[in-house]
Amino acid sequence: MVVSQLRLNPLTGRWVTVAVERSVRPADFAPRAAAVEAGPSRPCPFCPGNEEATPPAAEAYGPEGNWLVRVVPNLYPAFSGDDALTVEHLGPVFTQARASGAHEVFVLSPDHDGSWGDLDDRQAGLVMAAVRDRLEEHARHPHIRYSQAIVNHGREAGASLSHPHGQLLGMPFVPGELAEELAGFTRFGEACLLCTTVEAELAADHRVVHEDERVVAIAPFWSGSPFELLVVPREHDPHLTHADPRDLAAVGRALRDVLVSLRRTVGDVAYNVVFHTAPHHTRDAAYHWHIHLVPRITSVAAFEQGTGVLINIVAPELAAQQLAATD
Ligand SMILES: [Zn+2]
Ligand SMILES: [Zn+2]
Ligand SMILES: [Zn+2]
Repeated sequence: MVVSQLRLNPLTGRWVTVAVERSVRPADFAPRAAAVEAGPSRPCPFCPGNEEATPPAAEAYGPEGNWLVRVVPNLYPAFSGDDALTVEHLGPVFTQARASGAHEVFVLSPDHDGSWGDLDDRQAGLVMAAVRDRLEEHARHPHIRYSQAIVNHGREAGASLSHPHGQLLGMPFVPGELAEELAGFTRFGEACLLCTTVEAELAADHRVVHEDERVVAIAPFWSGSPFELLVVPREHDPHLTHADPRDLAAVGRALRDVLVSLRRTVGDVAYNVVFHTAPHHTRDAAYHWHIHLVPRITSVAAFEQGTGVLINIVAPELAAQQLAATD
């Protein structure tokens, strides 16, 4: 059993999770150019028929015996267990805690070769409903304060299996990135930062890549990397779990549509999808749930690493124009 530990980086004030009982040999780190699948001879654990390769499903969607979306516990959880966050100080700079919480995998489709960009409308809606249901389940967990849903596509983006899947990590604290965004909403003041952004981008009209009555996708003015996109439901709500099912389905379709445009414009590049929603049980209305899509076209180099200042070589105006041209 893998046990993860939280350790505090006192330089940044951010927690790091460290797998303390999993021995990783250097050979386990595949070379960068390797295909996503580690052993092509091994059957894919996420394909229909191989359900025994994973722990029993926490949830399955679709007709009995023919699941369409499946949620399973992660075999190597970064967060697990029911403990409250108990911080131990082992010295002036050694602060640790148990990485309790939950870590699940959601299989986006029975189709091994598909991706979010290949989902039909119904499947995209089903995946969003699955994310909502699991977030609700995490919220019932007394010590999970925040849940992070993500999708990695391609090895450069961190995907270790090519079968389309995402992950859901329930954590006992509010992570730094979310805390920074929450502070951004507070700094902005009375009006909602993202409602205002949607309105301003629609008015400017040259960074909008998708627009319908429920959702808007933009290449944000402040994009830090090429073809970075922000998918925002028009209806203001801090929590994804409170969204109207029609808004959830529309967001799932919009993400699919922008992924199709991305593939037509720059090819089948690796990307990360990050779902941001307010921490569980936060009543504060000053947040607006949304999704980031970050293609991994360039890599983060020492300057970005050292300063947190991103250098974007493709202006979002140009990215939006190119994405729109493929429609
Ligand atoms: Zn598969
Ligand atoms: Zn808003
Ligand atoms: Zn965000």
